[in-house]
Amino acid sequence: MAKKQFKTESKRLLELMINSIYTNREIFLRELISNASDALDKRYYLSLTDPDHKVDADELKIRIERYPETRQLVIEDSGVGMTSEELEKNLGTIAKSGSAEFRRQLEKAEDNIDIIGQFGVGFYSAFIVAKKVTVESRSVNGEQGYSWTSSGEDGYVISKIDKPEIGTRITLDLKDNTEEEKFDEFLEEHRIRELVRKYSDYVRYPIVMNVTKSIPDPTEEGKTIDTLEEETLNSMIPLWKKKKSEITDEEYNEFYKTKFSDWEDPEKVIHYSVEGNISYTALLFIPSRTPYNFYYQDFEPGLRLYSKGVFILDKAKDLLPDEYRFVCGLIDSDDINLNISREILQQDRQVKLLAKSIEKKIHSALEDMLKNEREKYENFFDNFGLNLKFGIYKDFGMKKDSLQDLILFRSSKEGKYVTLKEYTERMPEEQKAIYYACGSSVDEIEKLPVLEKIKEKGYEILYFLDERDEFVSGVMRDYDGHEFCSVNKSDLDLDSDEQKKEKEEKTAENKGLLDAMKDALNGAVKEVRISSRLKDDPVIVVADEGVSLEMEKYMANDPMNKNKVKATKILEINPDHPVFEKLKTVYENDPDKIADYADVLLNQALLIQGLPIDDPVGYARKVADLIVKA
Ligand code: ADP
Repeated sequence: MAKKQFKTESKRLLELMINSIYTNREIFLRELISNASDALDKRYYLSLTDPDHKVDADELKIRIERYPETRQLVIEDSGVGMTSEELEKNLGTIAKSGSAEFRRQLEKAEDNIDIIGQFGVGFYSAFIVAKKVTVESRSVNGEQGYSWTSSGEDGYVISKIDKPEIGTRITLDLKDNTEEEKFDEFLEEHRIRELVRKYSDYVRYPIVMNVTKSIPDPTEEGKTIDTLEEETLNSMIPLWKKKKSEITDEEYNEFYKTKFSDWEDPEKVIHYSVEGNISYTALLFIPSRTPYNFYYQDFEPGLRLYSKGVFILDKAKDLLPDEYRFVCGLIDSDDINLNISREILQQDRQVKLLAKSIEKKIHSALEDMLKNEREKYENFFDNFGLNLKFGIYKDFGMKKDSLQDLILFRSSKEGKYVTLKEYTERMPEEQKAIYYACGSSVDEIEKLPVLEKIKEKGYEILYFLDERDEFVSGVMRDYDGHEFCSVNKSDLDLDSDEQKKEKEEKTAENKGLLDAMKDALNGAVKEVRISSRLKDDPVIVVADEGVSLEMEKYMANDPMNKNKVKATKILEINPDHPVFEKLKTVYENDPDKIADYADVLLNQALLIQGLPIDDPVGYARKVADLIVKA
């Protein structure tokens, strides 16, 4: 049969994989065993649910064969196998989804081996040690066997073969040894045994290999001879069925990395069993980094579902609420029907109970982490906090009560993270509202003139660094009876009675000037008023009730949003600033000029708030004019 080329992107990846990975080559074995184990899971499940596909449980195994003379290593399984179309589809394309990202990571990573599994390219790790790979397979759904052969970059050939048994046999022709690199280690009995123990011990199916045994020589008394005998190399106890006290961190981490395709250890392991209305064991993980496609369509959340140790479904998404979709792992329950399908899963009563229980457990694991492992929690929050916030504002805030104590904000207390509980617990007694300021960085927010007055009163300010934070606080409305209040709100109500009185007097004195400025601004602001919140800056623009300045900014940047709503603005002037004195003089001597001053000051105030100005050219000219006259 004609040789086929790998898809272009796949070809480049394969080149990289073959030529850039030198360390930790051994993981190819764990990847191939993991694929074999998945194929066996699928076959076993089929045999339990479809009478046409009955199979004896002891037929399901993985066999490793070593041929030192020809330098070949074989990994064979009696799993579901592949049809010729599946060989083409599964092995002809590398990294279907994240190929570009994969390449980036591969080029960047120093020890890049562990990122292979992550991108659905586990099979290709065979090429790290093999110069030629032959896959012989027969599917449960076909009579004909097929082989797939490739020597790497230059493509692959698929041909018909005779293969009586269902399953897949992968033959690796090991690369030639060089001065620096020896591949013979993968033909040694003890090395293979060691690797299986290290990476694949918990695989549920026997991984067998012929090993050398010394037996008494029948012909010569007192002497022994070596014979080959089949031995099972792995203990076959699923990790989650072992006692917690008997599992090392390293075992958890290895399991996580192999099964859930990550190259970093998880942030948190959640392993527990529940007995009751519904009994189950869960082994869950929170990754220590955000998966590259987490916020994209192709990210598939969900937990692996097992019933009595038998694999049923990958990625059962009904077991996880959206806000915890970053959790991966597996659930093993005796109370779930083996025949359950993705469709039934949604309505099944047991599954609903299960999902509720899982949700509670994840919640308390997060609470616990927040309380006892703050640093870890903050790292977790950097990765997935946004998703918890989504959880709060989705469905009209249905989940806000359970999630509000899990979110963190940076604050004016050294820019550090704070919970709402911590914030309200340490606020001065007379403080009523929870104050927040929006901006894209801590530095940017700390420069805002509006903060001064609030800080002076000793009030802490939350920094909303994400555009969505205001939606979150909007949906929550308050925390523990304290309303959220933007520092840009027109009526902050921070003044003492005396200050209020003073302000009223100044307003009355300058009514003519304030009104003239408002009229000059021609509807751009609802009011021009005396401010009591400014120290060093002459003006500020704030929002009246309703749409906030931050919302206006958010909408302005949202290409999907056609009718750009705007905040009703109020221009506040600092009566203690020299600019105000100047305004008074101009108003008295040359009232026609007030329009230009008002315009320049409003634009300045808009710029400070990061809002667009209507006529930048006009503004620049007026400023130039003022400089010239000064
Ligand atoms: P992943 O396992 O992450 O999907 P791989 O590159 O390791 O990516 O494998 C690609 C696909 O090839 C698998 O999803 C599976 O469908 C198929 N496959 C690989 N090895 C086997 C096997 N031993 N038996 C049956 N199918 C296999």
